[in-house]
Amino acid sequence: MAVEVKMPQLGLTMEEGTVSKWIKQEGDAVKVGDVLLEITTDKLTSEVTAEAEGVLIQIVAKEGDDVPVKGTLAYIGAAGEKVGSAVPVTPAPAPAATEKKPAGETTVAVIGGGPGGYVAAIRAAQLGGKVTLIEKNKLGGTCLNVGCIPTKAILHAAEAISEVQEMAAYGINAQVVSVDWSKVQAKKSAITNQLVSGVTGLMKANKIKVVEGTAAFAAKDTLTVTKKDGTKENMTFDKIIIAAGSIPAIPPIPGVKENANCVDSTGALSFEQLPKSLLVIGGGVIGIELATAYTKFGVDVTVVEAAPKLLPMMDGELTAQMRKMMEAKGVKIMTEAKVQSVEAAPAGAKVNVEVGGKIQAFEAEKVLVAVGRRTDTEALNLDAVGIANDRGRITVNDKMETSVPNVYAIGDCLGKVMLAHVASAHGEVAAENALGEEAVYDGATNPSCVYTDPEFAGVGLTEEKAKEMGVDYIVGKFPLMANGKSLIMNGGVGTIKFILGKEYKEVLGVHILGPRATDLIGECALAIGLEATVEDIIATIHAHPTVTEAVREAALAAEKRAIHIPNK
Ligand code: FAD
Ligand code: NAD
Repeated sequence: MAVEVKMPQLGLTMEEGTVSKWIKQEGDAVKVGDVLLEITTDKLTSEVTAEAEGVLIQIVAKEGDDVPVKGTLAYIGAAGEKVGSAVPVTPAPAPAATEKKPAGETTVAVIGGGPGGYVAAIRAAQLGGKVTLIEKNKLGGTCLNVGCIPTKAILHAAEAISEVQEMAAYGINAQVVSVDWSKVQAKKSAITNQLVSGVTGLMKANKIKVVEGTAAFAAKDTLTVTKKDGTKENMTFDKIIIAAGSIPAIPPIPGVKENANCVDSTGALSFEQLPKSLLVIGGGVIGIELATAYTKFGVDVTVVEAAPKLLPMMDGELTAQMRKMMEAKGVKIMTEAKVQSVEAAPAGAKVNVEVGGKIQAFEAEKVLVAVGRRTDTEALNLDAVGIANDRGRITVNDKMETSVPNVYAIGDCLGKVMLAHVASAHGEVAAENALGEEAVYDGATNPSCVYTDPEFAGVGLTEEKAKEMGVDYIVGKFPLMANGKSLIMNGGVGTIKFILGKEYKEVLGVHILGPRATDLIGECALAIGLEATVEDIIATIHAHPTVTEAVREAALAAEKRAIHIPNK
């Protein structure tokens, strides 16, 4: 019986491929492993090999045909055999035609100057739009002013302390004599200010008009901007991109709002003095990063997380390793623990936590409330102009279009993945669509990075997600203990883990706990974007001595070919 040759799925995001060249022709004899044809996706060219021996009895998809994944390409059978009914090739849907506006005639408003808004504004200006950016606070948004950058500046200072301690093993006997916290704060602010003024310069260089004020919709194409002096101005635009971002969510825990020692992330990034003790409500990204930093500064840190594990979106196996490392460094961690109330106490605050059905009380000088963020869209008047939203979380399609034509929304104000690089990626897509280009957002290559010690990063499917989706997968793992550079840098603590499709060995996910994980994940995101297979990673020579060698070793381990560990 004839065997079907199907369009392979070379990556999670691949939906179809184009037949670029037939290497074998109808009537040719084929052996298992012979290259039958070449296919291209929008990203790469690949070969399709025979999985059966016989004769290529029928070519179904001709050169140039677009064929969906698992669509029929050809049949292999016995000489003279006929295929009863060839499965017709489903043509790929044609892209929708869009009207392209002449450059220089389209007026664009961007609401919010964070990494979503300022990137959207620059891209819109590059494409010829006349752009106005409206910002109620400071350019740079959460990311530059009270988010990514100040957190990493404080973490960098904290790392210096632990490095001094770790250098003793190398015979470098140094001591941290003291920490001048006001200088840590001053350096953090200087970095932030430098980056904010860089964004201001970029606005000027791209001829983007920056208006200081709060925007609200007066009509579908008109914004009322309330300036700092209270005056209001109505402005009408062809296109509007909403990039209003998010603010900390404060849970309705009795006593939190009333206690001045309970702070959100903004408060915890600008303590006037280092507290003696810190209780963190929420073992998510903010909680874990700030717990990592403050522990190194000598603060007694306790993390209380309601869920069964920390960092719910990260790979569970590596998260468990990371938890042990944090505990070894002195952070106290409780999971499946729910804060019931906060009371005033001489130390600062008494936090009542329910663990295993019992209430335990913890006293701390400061309490960081880090249980997530909510969209900052209340002032925008979304409902009045019919912009669909779910309790302030704006609904968009993959072109970043809202329910109202010519209005786009991006970044944190969608209330989904709240990351700076996601907001920026959205911003470029929205600007391109607003200026008549065709662009869609695809989050497949979006990495999640947590700046712990060692760093933790992941892209693509976690093992849990692969299981939940019913994906047939294999795992390749490599312990960093067997990697020379990691051993030098942090004693070899950490692991690299690949999740690969079982049939085609395409890269579905990569998870890294180890030194420079947040940089290493770039290669893995590219692999997913290019729909690379394990062979592509293996075929790439990785420099020695680097931690990247361990990325290749983890790929080799999936094939039971790792060189520097025994293969089980
Ligand atoms: P925002 O950066 O929030 O910007 C929105 C802007 O819109 C604000 O400036 C606001 O003032 C303005 N605005 C709102 N409403 C109006 C209005 N009506 N009129 C005019 N202006 C308005 N992400 C990472 O990727 N990596 C990290 O390491 C990281 N660390 C973080 C650490 C912390 C402590 C926090 C809090 C966040 C962190 N994030 C990190 C998340 C990241 O900061 C956000 O995902 C990112 O800033 C979102 O960008 P955005 O442009 O959508 O919104
Ligand atoms: P988060 O969603 O990452 O974590 C919140 C945590 O709080 C969750 O684990 C949740 O289970 C827990 N929680 C909720 N209610 C609780 C309660 N009552 N008691 C105990 N635990 C409770 O939110 P976050 O840490 O506040 O961060 C907000 C956003 O900022 C995130 O979306 C994140 O993506 C972004 N951020 C990113 C980075 C980074 O990329 N490195 C760093 C910081 C923040």
